[in-house]
Amino acid sequence: MEMPVPRPDILARKAELIDRLHEVLPDDAIISDPAETRAYECDALTAYKCPPLTVILPGSTEEVAAALRICHEMGVPVVPRGAGTSLAGGALPTADCVILGVSRLGEVLETDYDNRFIRVQTGRTNLSVTGAVEEHGFFYAPDPSSQLACAIAGNIAMNSGGAHCLKYGVTTNNLMGVRMVLMDGTVVELGGAHLDAEGLDLLGLICGSEGQLGVVTEATLRILRKPEGARPVLIGYDSNEVAGACVSDIIKAGVLPVAIEFMDRPCIEATEDFAQAGYPMCEALLIVEVEGSDAEIDEQLALIEEIARKHDPVELRQSRSSEESAAIWLGRKSAFGAMGQINDYMCLDGTIPVSQLPHVLKRIGELSAQYGLGVANVFHAGDGNMHPLILFDANKPGDLELCEELGSEILKLCVEVGGCLTGEHGVGIEKRDLMAHQYAPQDLEAQMAVKDVFDPKWLLNPAKVFPLASSDARRVA
Ligand SMILES: Cc1cc2nc3c(=O)[nH]c(=O)nc-3n(C[C@H](O)[C@H](O)[C@H](O)COP(=O)(O)OP(=O)(O)OC[C@H]3O[C@@H](n4cnc5c(N)ncnc54)[C@H](O)[C@@H]3O)c2cc1C
Repeated sequence: MEMPVPRPDILARKAELIDRLHEVLPDDAIISDPAETRAYECDALTAYKCPPLTVILPGSTEEVAAALRICHEMGVPVVPRGAGTSLAGGALPTADCVILGVSRLGEVLETDYDNRFIRVQTGRTNLSVTGAVEEHGFFYAPDPSSQLACAIAGNIAMNSGGAHCLKYGVTTNNLMGVRMVLMDGTVVELGGAHLDAEGLDLLGLICGSEGQLGVVTEATLRILRKPEGARPVLIGYDSNEVAGACVSDIIKAGVLPVAIEFMDRPCIEATEDFAQAGYPMCEALLIVEVEGSDAEIDEQLALIEEIARKHDPVELRQSRSSEESAAIWLGRKSAFGAMGQINDYMCLDGTIPVSQLPHVLKRIGELSAQYGLGVANVFHAGDGNMHPLILFDANKPGDLELCEELGSEILKLCVEVGGCLTGEHGVGIEKRDLMAHQYAPQDLEAQMAVKDVFDPKWLLNPAKVFPLASSDARRVA
């Protein structure tokens, strides 16, 4: 993975930069010892690492603004960081950058149950947003599998989704407003505690902008009443393609489950070894969950079972208790950890039209055989968001490059069938150079012109999202 050469003039001014940051931040908010900055050298895409020049952990929007003003004046790049769980290398530092972490911004600022919103600082973890409102019978819907660790900051930057987003939408559908600091230190408010904002949809632009446009410090989030109940059904098939066809038929029938998750055999075997969830050994498993009153759940599951049976399942197991529901979800939620025990892996995130699932799964199998690297599939099938996990050995020379090549073939396939490079993990560095496969040069130019407006010096999270060749002139200027 190519990254720009660090600028020697910035490296040479490290001491001056740190002195100036000390003027506006408490001492313990600045980490400049190279042994300590290494803790920030990568995110969850651990194949790529680079310790930053320094790390700052401001404790308020005002401190973020003051620090950004200094970096702006000195021409120092800044990489915003939430919890560092990005799977796309979105929070990967460059050697000449300041990592701006929001981990100290974790407060709940306001909860309003009448108007169903919560306002939080963005360093707060996703799960603890629900934690703050659940005793009043509410929850925050977007639920990335990393929700115990990942921060609202990263969720907004990546427009994150999760298993239950089939029904509730992803972050952008649950985000009402942000407070954000521009690279020159200007603080702006977009949206708020009301439906839709006047003027252009700048909030929509910010959500998913991968730290390119500003540093988000506060967020107003939609909270929802917890449903009366939920029940999953586990459906096993003896082929990936048949399971894919079943997903396609469920969606076509107009039922709206809250989640349809898919796991293939390599993933089922790994999670059984790891979590002993009691999954049947078959080629493909679907977890389909519906919500509502008991009567609504019975009605929806009856229809789903009728569709599933038409595809001759080898297993059809409806949960009968909260313990059984937890067991059904246990394997799915442990899947990434389980795969990590077997080998190094790279997790892809292409999105495809649901009707293309059978074809794409078959092609992935063929490509896996052609490249000689195992691929396990676990993903949000209901919205066509694929997560092929390519297994490789980071210690074997050439394996990472082979894995990157296979990954890019799979993502190109997603684009070719009418999908796109990323559903929820973002572009980061991982898919940066594939953007030219999805977008024409004039499309990329239009997207970069938007960054020009927010960050004319191109200092925020540089060398991400846009192919280096396209963004070179702007970054160098
Ligand atoms: C095991 C595992 C499972 C996962 N499952 C899912 C899943 O189900 N769904 C999903 O969507 N993702 C998933 N992810 C990916 C990841 O958790 C999400 O992308 C998450 O939103 C990243 O949040 P973070 O706080 O860790 O952000 P980081 O990794 O710190 O940063 C991510 C991006 O956000 C930018 N950023 C961070 N803070 C700010 C800020 N304050 N202002 C502006 N930009 C900022 C960064 O520059 C970077 O580009 C998973 C990751 C792991 C490791």
